[in-house]
Amino acid sequence: MQKVTFGLLICLICTATRAAESTTSIIFLIGDGMGVAYTGAYRLYQDDLATPELDTTIFDKMLVGMASTYPDDHNQVTDSAAAATALASGVKTFNGAIGVNSQRTSVISMLDKAKALGYLTGIAVTSQVNHATPAAFVAHADSRQSYEKIADQYIDLRINGKPKVDLILGGGQEYFIRKDRNLTKEFEALGYSYHSDIKDLDKIKRLPSIGLFSKGGLAPALGSEHPLRLTEMTKKALALLHSKSSQPPFLLMLEASQIDWCGHANDIACAMAEMRDMAATMNLIKQFIDKNPNTIFVATADHSTGGLSIGAKGQYQWGANVVRNIKATAPTIARQLLASKSNWKIVWQALTQIKLADDEQKKLDALVVQADENNSEVVIGQVTAQVLSYIDKYSFTGWTSIGHTGEDVQIFSYGKGKSNFEGAMDNTDIAKKLLNYLQP
Ligand code: MG
Ligand code: ZN
Repeated sequence: MQKVTFGLLICLICTATRAAESTTSIIFLIGDGMGVAYTGAYRLYQDDLATPELDTTIFDKMLVGMASTYPDDHNQVTDSAAAATALASGVKTFNGAIGVNSQRTSVISMLDKAKALGYLTGIAVTSQVNHATPAAFVAHADSRQSYEKIADQYIDLRINGKPKVDLILGGGQEYFIRKDRNLTKEFEALGYSYHSDIKDLDKIKRLPSIGLFSKGGLAPALGSEHPLRLTEMTKKALALLHSKSSQPPFLLMLEASQIDWCGHANDIACAMAEMRDMAATMNLIKQFIDKNPNTIFVATADHSTGGLSIGAKGQYQWGANVVRNIKATAPTIARQLLASKSNWKIVWQALTQIKLADDEQKKLDALVVQADENNSEVVIGQVTAQVLSYIDKYSFTGWTSIGHTGEDVQIFSYGKGKSNFEGAMDNTDIAKKLLNYLQP
């Protein structure tokens, strides 16, 4: 009898090991707002000037297809919520919808399916973790603005009695630590470790775990102490989700969230710094897959943002070198100029290296030196706009919108199943194909 039980146990271990070996893990990375112009501009931005040829990027190496992104309402241009629902669940919906269809019925995301099948699950993003894109993989809400309700669902919605996500990394303390509920304490009561500083990433040694490293979204990559914070979080996530081969397969959802925010701000230097973090994340994932080939990696964008163009105002050039020399986001430059008052020119030179014409200097001087200190937000806005106009002028960067645009987005893939994502498809097809990889 004992022999039979032992044999059965061995057999169960065998099956579990076999399942872990044959079942594919999935890494899905979304570059929010990362339209085609962003990867093209990044190619110029990262080029090694010491070599004559234009260096290719990880985006070039992994490019396989294109996807349409339109939502299922009267709009032709999607927001991040509808696009994320499409990418998470394969279901078109209306702008603003998180994990619900047009009838406002909850839909099943790939993370739901993965968790139900016993996969380990993780999300790592540079926005708050309950922002639209990651939220569509975890929560269900008619409005992306229901930030607290969405945060609650990260712990209240259970699969097999457990929260859906084993590893949560990003920002969002203000939504998880509130007067009415402290969700981080509730997570700790369920056995999660909680960390509040990205410097403590190394201290996360086990699953489940939640790390919320800022009040809202993480600091922008440009000028940050952690310019490659998505890369750092991804490295930690892969180490935890795949520490030994006996672990179940995993689904890891990643987002370079702030490419979109820089796009809305029409801030090209900000966007390129976010692109650098996304590219480094993809290089890291490539290294992981080269060692762990039973992993499928797909990256895409949810839409493009800002109508970015490489070249503007009839000029056939783009000043990658100008963009490369910008040391801070435009609002940060504006604040520092204002703080330095009549010494602003020194700060301007240090932060941008752009040599302004006399009339441009006069304009900025008037704004900075005669600033009304009682109206600081308005003044910061005015100086920011002026800073951006000079960066765009000298780098020949164009923008058509402060919102999203509806052109198709690229699909990138590496590893197992790459050929499945080749060619033209809809964003919902990406999810449907990935959902198919999730098997018991
Ligand atoms: Mg997003
Ligand atoms: Zn956006």
